[in-house]
Amino acid sequence: MGTEGGPASGYFGAVRRGWSLRCPRCGQGKLFRGLLRMEPRCGACGFQFERGPGYFLGSTYINYGLTAGFTTVTYVVSHFGFGVSNRVLVPILFTFCAIFPLVFFRYARSLWLSLDCYFDRTGAEEELSGETRGSPEAKD
Ligand SMILES: [Zn+2]
Repeated sequence: MGTEGGPASGYFGAVRRGWSLRCPRCGQGKLFRGLLRMEPRCGACGFQFERGPGYFLGSTYINYGLTAGFTTVTYVVSHFGFGVSNRVLVPILFTFCAIFPLVFFRYARSLWLSLDCYFDRTGAEEELSGETRGSPEAKD
């Protein structure tokens, strides 16, 4: 019970589940209990969200990448393409760089978790089947 949703199917299914801020394994449990506070486990299937110490450091790559990418493209297109002056652009882009990572924080973590579970299913599937590392079949 509770795992009937199953792991997200396909890359876009994993991305969709990441955007929903729900458990990457069952799609039911919420990742966050408050604005920034994460649940340690899924309330529906028991999936542990923090896969290891410092696990969510990887989500900063998503957050930083989107912030830097959008800022760079916007600056280049606006300044060199449309001739918008730095006096106008810099305060706007500076404000964007300060606010966007905070607003996107939850989504970056959720996308990181769901994409990690999509590309590396071993952890999620081991937990799902109740097995741990070094299963009896691995012995000679
Ligand atoms: Zn779950």
